[in-house]
Amino acid sequence: MIPTGSTIGILGGGQLGRMLAIAAAPLGYSCHLFCPEDDAPAAEVCAKHTVAKYENVDALMSFAKNIDVVTYEFENVPSSAIQLIEKLRPVRPGKKSLTITSNRRKEKQFAMQNDISVASWQEVKERRFLGSAIKKIGVPSILKSEESGYDGKGQYTITSTESSELDLAWQKIGNVPAILEEMIDFDQEISVIIARGIDNSTKCYSPIFNVHKDGILDYSLSPAPINNRMKKKAEQIAMVAAESLDHIGVLCVELFLTKNKELLLNEIAPRVHNSGHLTIEAYKTSQFTQHIRAIVGLQLRDCLQQSNAAMKNLIGRDIDFWEKMDTNGEPSVHLYGKKEVRTGRKMGHVTWLYPTSQDPYIPIDF
Ligand code: ATP
Ligand code: MG
Repeated sequence: MIPTGSTIGILGGGQLGRMLAIAAAPLGYSCHLFCPEDDAPAAEVCAKHTVAKYENVDALMSFAKNIDVVTYEFENVPSSAIQLIEKLRPVRPGKKSLTITSNRRKEKQFAMQNDISVASWQEVKERRFLGSAIKKIGVPSILKSEESGYDGKGQYTITSTESSELDLAWQKIGNVPAILEEMIDFDQEISVIIARGIDNSTKCYSPIFNVHKDGILDYSLSPAPINNRMKKKAEQIAMVAAESLDHIGVLCVELFLTKNKELLLNEIAPRVHNSGHLTIEAYKTSQFTQHIRAIVGLQLRDCLQQSNAAMKNLIGRDIDFWEKMDTNGEPSVHLYGKKEVRTGRKMGHVTWLYPTSQDPYIPIDF
């Protein structure tokens, strides 16, 4: 139990860290950020900020001494950093969640060991194994680097078996160990956000419907338009993942619902998730508050949905339209304070609420 008044360390300075720190404040926790960028979105709302690389042992040790518990807002924090910190302070979620979910091969193996279905896949350690993997998986298929991917980065869709195409794919993902994955012609993509507390209790948010554009989440609707049986199945997958990882905090499973009504695990995010941003307004307790409650040892809150919701990400130059959106249906606008607009960069998001009797939608065209 970490009492109110304590300091929460956050590894990673993006918008997820920013929204975690905002949620920590009303409970009386102050946040100390650790990340290499001095103008990180989370820096503006954290009381302290250590600007250092995740490999900087001295900086990590002194950070650990100044905090009471540590969490992370993205899974590409090197596990060496976690190993160092956990000698001094509790790390929640723990190392197992990070190690497995930051590596796509380990994540797939973990799913299979836990009877969670995934798309067909093959390990591709080196370029010379790609040809035989393609023979087994076929085309189109997706080559994904084992590590360091996010927002569709480190991925290449292979559409022909020509060796020039395979060379290009291998080069595009950065000449690193990878997996080759079957392309799923899915009916829907959904995500399930679940929280697990230090007493091992779990609380699950209703599945969310997600649409991606160029490998990046474009918008989310809650609840997902699926039947009760599918909802239960999806929530069960989230529960198995959280328990088998011995996870403390919030976790998200991204799922494909296939045309044959099968649920396949795409990936696990060991943290609060972009699709869950709508929980800030649509639920009595948001994913961010729930995560803070979990890692400090407070009892988890029920996931009570108060409104249906639609969330649109503002990606790159979408940010230019935020004022237009602001005047359309009185949405909640969240801007991340990023100075530089880059293609594919998440700059903010907007959430619209609807009565629970009404289907949610994005009330503006792009
Ligand atoms: P993020 O960080 O946004 O979750 P990511 O880089 O971790 O993205 P994935 O979740 O693996 O990448 O893929 C991003 C999107 O690409 C998926 O949400 C989905 O729309 C599409 N995609 C990925 N793998 C497949 C697949 N095997 N079949 C069909 N579509 C896929
Ligand atoms: Mg994903």
